Amino acid sequence: MKSQPEFPESLGRLSSIPRVRFFDGPTPLEPMPNLAKRCGGARLSVKRDDAMGMAFGGNKVRQLEFYLGAAAGQKADCVLITGAVQSNFARLAAAGARKLGMECHIQLEERVKKSDPGYRNSGNVLIERLLGATLHSFPEGENEAGADRRLGEIAEELRGQGRRPYIIPLAPGHPPLGALGYVVAAHELLGQMVAGGLSVDEIVVPSGSGNTHAGLLFGLRALGAKVPVRGICVRRDAASQTLRIRDRCQAIAKLLKIDAPVNDEDVILDDAYLAPGYGLMAESTASAILTGARTEGLMLDPTYSGKTMAGFIDRAKAMGAEGTLVFLHTGGTPAIFAYEKDLLGAIEMYGG
Ligand SMILES: *Cc1c(COP(=O)(O)O)cnc(C)c1O
Repeated sequence: MKSQPEFPESLGRLSSIPRVRFFDGPTPLEPMPNLAKRCGGARLSVKRDDAMGMAFGGNKVRQLEFYLGAAAGQKADCVLITGAVQSNFARLAAAGARKLGMECHIQLEERVKKSDPGYRNSGNVLIERLLGATLHSFPEGENEAGADRRLGEIAEELRGQGRRPYIIPLAPGHPPLGALGYVVAAHELLGQMVAGGLSVDEIVVPSGSGNTHAGLLFGLRALGAKVPVRGICVRRDAASQTLRIRDRCQAIAKLLKIDAPVNDEDVILDDAYLAPGYGLMAESTASAILTGARTEGLMLDPTYSGKTMAGFIDRAKAMGAEGTLVFLHTGGTPAIFAYEKDLLGAIEMYGG
């Protein structure tokens, strides 16, 4: 694996951890003047991690650079991953695996109570089938340990057939390699903020597995930046997510072999946008998706970036004309086709 001497020493052994490259960074940091006008004149920017060259992009591309870097290092010939039916991670794991000449097994968990044909067959699922991934189903949605166990059994079967599987783990307790992708992103974003003369008051990000939130926060603090990072809960409540992010920061420190630069107070979470639950739209989600589209031409999804935008808009309004905020757009673009029914309902409600 090529070494990457570009990272400063304060990021520990980041440069020597195996990584493959799936996009040409940096992703754009763009101003959002029309949205800003709607929000009382704050200075607003969007970090476009939805704009990457592999299979519609998104935050999992950065995470997979490290997971599949490890897979390639172990000479794996297939990759296994588990997620919700409309998991963006699974779609991008399948694309990344193909780029590296590997196959992909995807276990789809029944995490979201939605049965319409669009949700089950379109969006990410359609892309996974185009990529020729093998799809397995898991009947439960809130059983991370059980889902991991079943994935382990599939890997065992594959080993029995002479294959060399690599499992991408999602549950806590595994080294969070994916979070390193967002330590890299912190370095990239800081460079853009400095170059653009942006003194940022807050960065707003979605907080799901926590790899994005923890990685970005950790990277910023390790590089000496004190800018607050606000996580918008998309999967579980703020209390449990706070513990998860703190744990994950400790685990990143271990991986990089440096002292954790993140304090307990640095971990900020907001679960006001989570209801009615993971993968389900609230009215505020629908409104934020349409606002993003109709002010800045952004495509936001119902599970992650739409809920995060709802939180971002409220923060921008609260800070007023003096505020400078960055929205991290983590992608999820193909999911809009899986949520066609819900989104048509939203369009009907809001007009247009
Ligand atoms: C997975 C995902 C998230 C959540 O990121 P985590 O690193 O799991 O917290 C946010 N946005 C999109 C589009 C995603 O696919």
